[in-house]
Amino acid sequence: VDFIKALPKAELHAHLNGCIPLECLQELVNQHPEITSGSDGAVAKGLKILEQGVVLNEINEFFDLFPAIYAITSTPDALKKATRATIAQFLEPGSLGAGEPAQCTYLELRTTPRESSFMSKREYLETVLDEVEKYDKDKCNLIISLDRRMSPVVVGVDLCGTPMAGKADDFLAAFEYARENGLKLTLHIAETKENTEEDTMTLLSAKPARLGHATFLHEESLSVVLNHKETMAVEICLSSNLLCKTVETIAEHHISWWLSNGLPIAICTDDTLVFRNSLVEEYALLLAAPPLGLGLPRETVAQMARMSLQVGFHQ
Ligand code: IMP
Repeated sequence: VDFIKALPKAELHAHLNGCIPLECLQELVNQHPEITSGSDGAVAKGLKILEQGVVLNEINEFFDLFPAIYAITSTPDALKKATRATIAQFLEPGSLGAGEPAQCTYLELRTTPRESSFMSKREYLETVLDEVEKYDKDKCNLIISLDRRMSPVVVGVDLCGTPMAGKADDFLAAFEYARENGLKLTLHIAETKENTEEDTMTLLSAKPARLGHATFLHEESLSVVLNHKETMAVEICLSSNLLCKTVETIAEHHISWWLSNGLPIAICTDDTLVFRNSLVEEYALLLAAPPLGLGLPRETVAQMARMSLQVGFHQ
């Protein structure tokens, strides 16, 4: 584990509202009891599930957790505190325990600008940006799902959310606009069995530089990805896929396929609040002997950490 902790590495796939440290969320609820009382018990129920540790039967149960988290981060003040604590969790030493080094050397945090009765999407974004901008650009940047404010610290645009909702076509114009304005694209793609090859191919037509999950690519989409090895990387979230049951065992995880086909990958956490994981633990899964992990040699793991830094949008 000391070897993993010391590796310089990048976290490129971390959702802000999915990675808020649990203590921060609890503190926000304690400071604002009106949030809990005004939610018909939904916040208290969601928080209880998160406190007990989430066991999911299927991926949709995962998305059901977010309304409770969103109720807690619905004011600019709460969002600011949550953003600060989330960034610190990745970039500041000590977040994994006293005397422990920071989890990563570079962070690309992603979030969906969200309106509430207390703030507009613009205020949401500005609140998050204020916290991201406290760090150097080679340390922390932001990826947003659909951008409204262009700033050097916004490096990319992400498509996320319940995998089956909406139509990929509806986003193509926005993706094009983002690319024309110098932003890179990272798209959650083929995350579930139900995502059609048509949906996947439409998303690939937007020329994303990184793919999130890419668990269920089929023949045609796989060959497109393989033909773009030089310009595409895959964000791998092992615990997320196992806990959402889109992959049954680590031995069957598509990471092995990507590695043997020479496509750049980046090991990421996805939602540390929900999955109770850390970047160090995700790397530990690479080193650990089967059946718990993949049993990869240290040199391969070190090379993967280097790769995560190379495919960051800050390059
Ligand atoms: P936010 O964008 O900061 O609000 O982070 C939480 C949001 O990220 C959730 O509501 C989902 O839309 C999205 N999200 C988190 N994990 C995943 C995933 O694995 N697939 C697709 N969307 C996700």
